[in-house]
Amino acid sequence: MNDVSEIIEALYRGDGGALSADDIASFLDECESGGYDEVLAERARNVREPIYGNRVFVRGLIEISNICKNDCLYCGIRRSNRNCIRYRLDEDTIILCADEGYELGFRTFVLQGGEDAYYTDDVMCPIISRIKSSHPDCAVTLSLGERSRDSYRRMREAGADRYLLRHETANPDHYAQLHPASMSYENRIQCLYTLRELGYQVGCGFMVGSPYQTNRRIANDLCFIRDFYPDMCGVGPFVPHHETPFASFPSGTVEKTCRLLSIIRLLCPHVLLPATTALGTIHPRGREMGILAGANVVMPNLSPVGVRKQYELYDNKICTGEESAQCRDCLELRIRSVGGEIVTDRGDVKK
Ligand code: SAH
Repeated sequence: MNDVSEIIEALYRGDGGALSADDIASFLDECESGGYDEVLAERARNVREPIYGNRVFVRGLIEISNICKNDCLYCGIRRSNRNCIRYRLDEDTIILCADEGYELGFRTFVLQGGEDAYYTDDVMCPIISRIKSSHPDCAVTLSLGERSRDSYRRMREAGADRYLLRHETANPDHYAQLHPASMSYENRIQCLYTLRELGYQVGCGFMVGSPYQTNRRIANDLCFIRDFYPDMCGVGPFVPHHETPFASFPSGTVEKTCRLLSIIRLLCPHVLLPATTALGTIHPRGREMGILAGANVVMPNLSPVGVRKQYELYDNKICTGEESAQCRDCLELRIRSVGGEIVTDRGDVKK
């Protein structure tokens, strides 16, 4: 199989499982010449329609800490960045953010942060159970990086429903180019399987246009995603941060990010797919374009306005100045402009 239109139709029919990584890599090469993105996006919307309709789910993102023991080469809050003003939110502040989010119609809260040793299980579990007991109709999603199986189990027992842990790249050599030697591809992937086994809804994902990425390597990501079939999949452009070793690499593009969102929607029709803040950062209508390409989730910021600028994974991050309510209203209008409807709903995966 190698004709581009033939592959698009195979994906649309649900026959993406038959494609090899080589097929996908050459398909991605051919797509670069342009002209296929509109049909890919239309197919992706057609596949999304019977499952989710025009409903777009919102997740309230609470950035609990920018303190991190890791040194990922792409990330602005990496340990080696001495020019980052560090913060962490305490239990009561996190609870207040969630309470405010609840009033605004959020039914999922994502607690995301660097790998900050302060947040032991003894600290996290009461936070999770307090949110779940005050808002039993809400889902709690964690995005706190790699932890032990026992830790994942305890937080699950405390009530956490979902976990986001982007695999970052499904190619071990590429993984080693993006991360310090202290981190391993094997452990990252093992964490994803552990989380699934513990009953979490699990999200993986990767950056588009990260340094040293090739279409062959993206083909590995797509095969991994197809075979793992995550409940959620976070895919946004790489955006450089000036205080990292990757400061002078270019951002990923809107076109390629949207193309990959469409392909992922076709490979995994039920997946919850965010139009990311990073996509909104590289283009003023990036998130709208993501929704048109097949995404069905947005993650507005619920962090206290005072710390938003400090949770700077990449340069020029948007939405760091507005109040949570403004963020939500602004997104509502944006999503409506492309035919989507933001709903007050946990937005669980439909399987
Ligand atoms: N510590 C958590 C959360 C990481 S931040 C964890 O390890 O999962 C969430 C995601 O932001 C990362 O998984 C990464 O894919 C993305 N990210 C980090 N730096 C970025 C950059 N410079 N550009 C775009 N996305 C970035």
